[in-house]
Amino acid sequence: MATAENTELIDRFEEFYRNYYRNEIGELAQKYPNDQKSLYVDWQDLYRFDPDLADDYRTKPEQLQEYAEEALRLYDLPVDVSLGQAHVRVRNLPESEDIRDIRHEHHGNLISVQGIVRKATDVRPKVLTAAFECQRCGTLTRIPQAAGDFQEPHECQGCERQGPFRLNTDQSEFIDAQKIRVQESPEGLRGGETPQSIDINIEDDITGKVTAGDHVRATGILKLDQQGSDQDKSPMFDIYMDGVSIVIEDEQFEDMEITDADKKEIVELSNEPDIYDQMVGAIAPSIYGYEKEKLAMMLQLFSGVTKDLPDGSRIRGDLHMLLIGDPGTGKSQMLSYIREIAPRSVYTSGKGSSSAGLTAAAVRDDFGDGQQWTLEAGALVLADQGIAAVDELDKMSPEDRSAMHEALEQQRISVSKAGINATLKSRCSLLGAANPKYGRFDQYEPIGEQIDLEPALISRFDLIFTVTDKPDEEADRNLAEHIIQTNYAGELHTHRTQNPTSNFSEEEVDTVTDEVAPTIEPDLLRKYVAYAKRNCFPTMTEEAKTVIEDFYVDLRLKGQDDDAPVPVTARKLEALVRLAEASARIRLSDTVEETDADRAVDIAHYCLKEIGVDPETGEFDADVVETGTSKSQRDRIQNIRGIIADIEDEYDEGAPIDVVVERAEEVGIDESKAEHEIEKLKQKGEVYEPRTDHLRTT
Ligand code: ADP
Ligand code: MG
Repeated sequence: MATAENTELIDRFEEFYRNYYRNEIGELAQKYPNDQKSLYVDWQDLYRFDPDLADDYRTKPEQLQEYAEEALRLYDLPVDVSLGQAHVRVRNLPESEDIRDIRHEHHGNLISVQGIVRKATDVRPKVLTAAFECQRCGTLTRIPQAAGDFQEPHECQGCERQGPFRLNTDQSEFIDAQKIRVQESPEGLRGGETPQSIDINIEDDITGKVTAGDHVRATGILKLDQQGSDQDKSPMFDIYMDGVSIVIEDEQFEDMEITDADKKEIVELSNEPDIYDQMVGAIAPSIYGYEKEKLAMMLQLFSGVTKDLPDGSRIRGDLHMLLIGDPGTGKSQMLSYIREIAPRSVYTSGKGSSSAGLTAAAVRDDFGDGQQWTLEAGALVLADQGIAAVDELDKMSPEDRSAMHEALEQQRISVSKAGINATLKSRCSLLGAANPKYGRFDQYEPIGEQIDLEPALISRFDLIFTVTDKPDEEADRNLAEHIIQTNYAGELHTHRTQNPTSNFSEEEVDTVTDEVAPTIEPDLLRKYVAYAKRNCFPTMTEEAKTVIEDFYVDLRLKGQDDDAPVPVTARKLEALVRLAEASARIRLSDTVEETDADRAVDIAHYCLKEIGVDPETGEFDADVVETGTSKSQRDRIQNIRGIIADIEDEYDEGAPIDVVVERAEEVGIDESKAEHEIEKLKQKGEVYEPRTDHLRTT
């Protein structure tokens, strides 16, 4: 309906286009409709042209968009095309709403939100106008489909009877549609809040452009959707957005604002001689001990330098670290503290609360209308460019296990299922914790035997710490004192805040609390890490190179005697480089010095000693880490296999198990070990059972 006001507004938009968007419209006209279907309008331009019009666009977006599109259709084009179905898409509103702060007063307004795409459905056609063919007279009845349920005609427009009707898809009008879920970015969350999300429906030319894991800024109209079913309507409403424009943002720590004052404080801190001790004291101060583990976690936060090689390949700078150990040793506590101090972090359990688990998944749930396939990003994707702390890593699903290898080394996750082919970025560090399979850690068993993670996966970790809980009078006393002191500090603090007439003075409380407070405030530490990762890309000095090289070669040398196990593989070498780089970053240094290399070597040595030692020979044995089988154990397996091979030909039906076990005992392998190894050989397919209790090698 053309009223005076409408005409006036349409004229305003035309004038706006002539002043600001002449070139853009010319370009659109050339590309329309195949290569481009929308005119993108920067809201700030509109504001500069007419602040009132721009404000109206935010409060009455649907109406104003209609006028803007009408003005576009009326615009005098240099070429002879019609922009009949072109869209006007506004973007770049001056501020974004926090998803958790969206309220009913935003209803119907144009708003913008920032976050990470958690889920995205397939792009599928959605019917706009459905053409129903009457089966009696053949007349087509066209029914426009608004949002909500599918509408069918009451009666035929031709014969006025109630059908039956057949949907004629050729005569119906469709549009591409997609639904995405945008979740608050991890860095915007303080102290481990649960991230909130909003669903956004998008249509036509902007579909299929974003995928799960993308950081986006989405502009759209806030809508309400009544909860409950048709029969049982609820007074409560859900919110969602009709997306107008979606812009993929750079994934850097854009939310982290570092002022000049912060910068000064960071630089001063980095020059303090005891900065590494301070860093250790800044992680989970309520947990006693674990200096090496905490230092390693800090190095992980700062991470090594990602290297792009001239041949186009890439070496990850992120460090992966695993804590394995007895229950109740503070692993979970340390892991969850990461949320306080990492600029971008995701904390989750291996069991995973979402269907995407740790990596990513193509799922068919009720997210999309009509059971569309949805691509959902898991923890390692959401933690892209940050750190993923995964507790109970050993409990992860089989799907995650297979995707995990690629995620850790190539730092991407490929999903290929049901027509969804996507590669998601997961450039994050993994901090995992796992419990031993049999409840407690046994130092004399190789590590691969004790945790429920396959050797190839274990070998992806740069550092593996084992946390054992052995009674030790002195350590126990210190630990007890620490825990009691922490609790006492907490008591005093609570007591004073709850009780204004407390007998304890503020100073008393402060002295006790200071002892268990972090050495660096989490807020400052987060900025420190972000600043270092943004600005500091250290390179190795000759001295540092030598230290790392010597350590590696020395360890390898020990494996040179004929029979000795191979100590370390080249993977460890890269881990050392990363650790040394991270150490330099803590000082904000441009060079990796000898002390950094020493620090890296020290940590690596500590870890290797804890787990890399072949429990049966006492020597370093990288095979334990890399394959989960120590050399002496491999020899034993070889032996059993040898024994079977030796005697299988003496019997028609293969080597009888009891004879094999007997021979094994003769060479010093006891019965239970022998049976265990036979079982393993069978699992690996190296021997099979042609008849019950008879074995043959393959
Ligand atoms: P895990 O995940 O290793 O099973 P948790 O992190 O759940 O263990 O720790 C269990 C409890 O024991 C926590 O309340 C923790 O504070 C306490 N605890 C364990 N080890 C320590 C320690 N070294 N210092 C302080 N508290 C500890
Ligand atoms: Mg735990």
